[in-house]
Amino acid sequence: MQLFDTHAHLLDDQFDLDRNALIASLPEAGVSGFVEACVEAEDIPKIQALTLLYDFVYGSAGIHPHAASKADNTNLLRVERALAQKKIVAVGEIGLDYHYDFSPREAQREALSNQLDLAIAAKKPVIIHDREAHGDVMAMLSARKGRLGGVLHCYSGSYEDAVKYIDMGYYIAFGGALTFKNATKQRAIAEKLPLSRLLIETDCPYMTPEPHRGERNSPLLIHLTLEMLAKVRGISIEEAANAVNQNATDLFGISL
Ligand SMILES: [Zn+2]
Repeated sequence: MQLFDTHAHLLDDQFDLDRNALIASLPEAGVSGFVEACVEAEDIPKIQALTLLYDFVYGSAGIHPHAASKADNTNLLRVERALAQKKIVAVGEIGLDYHYDFSPREAQREALSNQLDLAIAAKKPVIIHDREAHGDVMAMLSARKGRLGGVLHCYSGSYEDAVKYIDMGYYIAFGGALTFKNATKQRAIAEKLPLSRLLIETDCPYMTPEPHRGERNSPLLIHLTLEMLAKVRGISIEEAANAVNQNATDLFGISL
């Protein structure tokens, strides 16, 4: 069984000592590839280099809400240019983070709005980060309904909102948090949504699934989230794996 990690941060400095050895080991360890999620415009050349080095690595280009203060015209142009490349498969991760508020909320909304419009122009999906900003994210995506698709990464909203996003053409992604003991709400949502709209991801090095919580996360642990998804839905691991692999292929326009 091969699994695809739809959201990883292998450029994080927690991987500085073993990044290339780890990436090279993935195909033999059951990981068919991953999308390296961009955080800042400065990451773009490094992500492009990774996608050139490894045929199973894909990337996104975008400015995270934490870095929204830096989403000036120069950096937006760097995102726009990267989207012309085939292996840059999405705009992300972009969104709103009202939990940390590392950038002023007005700057976050402006950066998100500009990058949603870049995605529409480039006809690429978006990878959305929404932390404690459910109302504003829903409003901004609803305003572009029918013109844009993508994924709500590390989903933390309600079942009702997830259904609305799916109706608008989005996918809902679950990560290691699905395995946490207190994640009863997420598991109930993952149980009820259509399997054809679900994705799995690690968000590594963060969000490490049980029973490895507290350690560094990596794509090698993606199977734990898949196993939990299969368990909550009462289906086989193979059926769950086939579904999420197909969904990743459909969303990002890649072949696994
Ligand atoms: Zn992320």
